[in-house]
Amino acid sequence: MLYGQMMKFPLTTHSIIEYGNRVFPHKEIVSKMPDGSWHRYTNAEMYKRTKKLASVLVRQLGVQPGDRVATFAWNHYQHLELYFAIPGAGAVCHPLNIRLSSEQIEFIVNHAEDKVVFLDASLIALFEPFASRLTTVKHLVIMNASDELLTSLPNILHYEDLIAQGKDDFDWVEVDENQACSMCYTSGTTGNPKGVLYSHRSTYLHAITTMTPNAANISSADRFLSICPMFHVMAWGFPYMCLLAGADTIMPSKHLQPASLIDMMQKEKITLANGVPTIWMGIYEELKRNPIKGNLSLKEFMVGGSAFPAGLIRRFEEDFGIACFHGWGMTETSPVVTVSRLQSHHHIMNDGDKIRIRAKQGIEMPGVEIRVMQEDGTIAKKDGKTFGEFEVRGHWIISGYYKMENINSHSKDGWFKTGDVGTMDEYGYMELTDRTKDLVKSGGEWISSVALETTLMNHPHIAEAAVIAIPDEKWVERPLACVVFKEDKTVSGNELNEFLLGHFAKYQLPKRYVTLKEIPRTGVGKFDKKKMRSLYAEGKLV
Ligand code: AMP
Repeated sequence: MLYGQMMKFPLTTHSIIEYGNRVFPHKEIVSKMPDGSWHRYTNAEMYKRTKKLASVLVRQLGVQPGDRVATFAWNHYQHLELYFAIPGAGAVCHPLNIRLSSEQIEFIVNHAEDKVVFLDASLIALFEPFASRLTTVKHLVIMNASDELLTSLPNILHYEDLIAQGKDDFDWVEVDENQACSMCYTSGTTGNPKGVLYSHRSTYLHAITTMTPNAANISSADRFLSICPMFHVMAWGFPYMCLLAGADTIMPSKHLQPASLIDMMQKEKITLANGVPTIWMGIYEELKRNPIKGNLSLKEFMVGGSAFPAGLIRRFEEDFGIACFHGWGMTETSPVVTVSRLQSHHHIMNDGDKIRIRAKQGIEMPGVEIRVMQEDGTIAKKDGKTFGEFEVRGHWIISGYYKMENINSHSKDGWFKTGDVGTMDEYGYMELTDRTKDLVKSGGEWISSVALETTLMNHPHIAEAAVIAIPDEKWVERPLACVVFKEDKTVSGNELNEFLLGHFAKYQLPKRYVTLKEIPRTGVGKFDKKKMRSLYAEGKLV
């Protein structure tokens, strides 16, 4: 055996913050705080405070290597400090999804055995109902409390007091690159949420790869608006990427209404942003309703978490000159596995075909692999037609859930079974048609609920559409479409079926349409089909 003679440096989040401080100390971190005030400082200032915080975690709060330390917070600079201070203390940063139910959060904190929780004062009311049932939490630290803070929570500590007591010459706790640095729980649309532990190494490799031009294409010329919540798969890795790329980071905390985000983009000259489709649909409608003077400096945004309709990709570009790129992944995959961008050979295509490629979920990034597994256990051809479940493996893909065994999550040969189904074309672009459990099987034929939804959302009068399977005597299952119309608009079911007929066979059309004011959503803003199915079962979707 002949080993290479390169130095051994562990891939850690310590090295990410060290790099940001060494090479880009002047870069800005800007937060619009929950109370509406603005906070600005530099990477260098963030670095010093993060060191202080890590020192307090170890020396005052007794945090030991491997302990889980939770956050319950909006996106802002203190949350960013926690992202690095907790692993810097050798512990595991565990952002809690503030939008889950009390029961789910209680389950998650107790299951993860979180030792400390850092809590935004503006979220205390959400936290209080289950606080007394948390069995492992030793310290509660409040961030951004005003002088009049009223709370029933006992023995609270204050974030800024802790920072004031910290030491900025603290040495990061030494870690092995395979140690856990952070964790998130899945949003649990089926069964209890499941814990996913990310390692220092997987976090580093995911960030370095997702930064590249085939993916986020982020650089030191960018000012990045971090809309995706920091509790949703570690904000898709962007906090790490911004430090590595030298991009300025701008965070909106709770100011997520389309008009506030547009205002932030204008004031802060944002060039790049991320967010789920709902956010971008809202921003599009707001820009249409209240046109701004001049253009936004936003050149591109990353959209993922749910499918983004092709029509919106086109309209953003035609109406506002803003491009978007579509990414796919899951909590279990850190999350980014694929990104959809055009390649040199696509440029001869017409505009419609180009948009269709971009609306696919994209090609795998270096470091991860995808295969499409058919029901009969054979791997599907890459022909854009043969359909199966996506299975993935690679440097930042889960190998097992935290403290949960015997979950049928992996194939016998070690690939993670995503539960997403679709096709892959000859150039490796995957197209997701559904979650296995959301597919509609009608008369023995599969119908893609995602394809129906994205096509319906291309209708000019429809704001949102979500499709579920409902029982049918003759066909076993048929699709039921729930639609939200744009202000003052309605369209009959027959007209909508006419609209769909250009794209679908007759048997694939929804059996019924239900008009809703809003579609039920999960904690990370996706259509909550489990809830829709139970509403239907209770006779409430009529
Ligand atoms: P989560 O773990 O909450 O991030 O949810 C992951 C799931 O979201 C995936 O398994 C997909 O079903 C869905 N998803 C993520 N990204 C996309 C995308 N670009 N298009 C369609 N569905 C997506």
